[in-house]
Amino acid sequence: MTTIQAWKVETAALLKEAGLASTADLDARLLLQMATGYDQAKQILLYDRVLTDAQLHKLSSIREDRLRHKPMAYILGCKEFYGRNFLVDERTLIPRPDTETLIEAVIAFSKGKQQPPSIIDLCCGSGCIGITLALELDANVTLSDLSEDALSLARENAKRLLSKPVTFLQGDLLSPTDKIYDIIVSNPPYLTAAWCDEVSNEVRWEPRLALEGFSEDGLGLIRKLVKESGNHLCCGGALFLECDYRQAKDVAELLSSHRFTDVCIERDLSDRDRVVWG
Ligand code: GLN
Repeated sequence: MTTIQAWKVETAALLKEAGLASTADLDARLLLQMATGYDQAKQILLYDRVLTDAQLHKLSSIREDRLRHKPMAYILGCKEFYGRNFLVDERTLIPRPDTETLIEAVIAFSKGKQQPPSIIDLCCGSGCIGITLALELDANVTLSDLSEDALSLARENAKRLLSKPVTFLQGDLLSPTDKIYDIIVSNPPYLTAAWCDEVSNEVRWEPRLALEGFSEDGLGLIRKLVKESGNHLCCGGALFLECDYRQAKDVAELLSSHRFTDVCIERDLSDRDRVVWG
């Protein structure tokens, strides 16, 4: 017989032993909520309720996943981004709070403009960037990704969150389109192979295709994207890119050397260079 409280205490201890100390208590609570439907208040109120066999079965399977450092977002199947819940699974990268810096920069740029902008989100993954901008700016959005798997998840998110139509393109960066946009935005894969090898056990669950930037300095895709962007931006349009804080200066120089003006670097929540635009 295992009560809610006993399961929570035992699970938090196991997670701490497994090297997940900083989130162990929260994770135990969320796993319990997932399997029983009881929120935090109910879990406290019903602390001595005995869990059913079916609940224990479900709980043991999701606890096993977490003990193997599977990210909570993949276990729960969703992740909050800019105040909205996005479906996520192993088909795509998990949306990061740092990427909200990219959203803020695009919103600030678009303020005061009369028409809703046309925006293409390249390497869209779950679609979190493009869908958020469609909602925040009433923008006409195109979501593009190399991975069919990623696009299928982006489609599900767009269907759940948007009432307006979105264009989906499958292919390498801007190659599947001949259109001109007001804004090109992307959080492309940009890690070097060495950085990829050093990521935490949790990040190892995410698709390497969404992480690694395909050149020694990780900037292979960004270089290609900057080069192609010139042919796809309207006059007065802008390109917004997320990158690693160790790459921001190089990316800013890259933009300047491709005739982008007013190039800016924005800092993320950890006060690190994260977004470059021009
Ligand atoms: N654009 C998606 C995100 O920001 C996916 C990024 C990627 O796959 N590199 O989460």
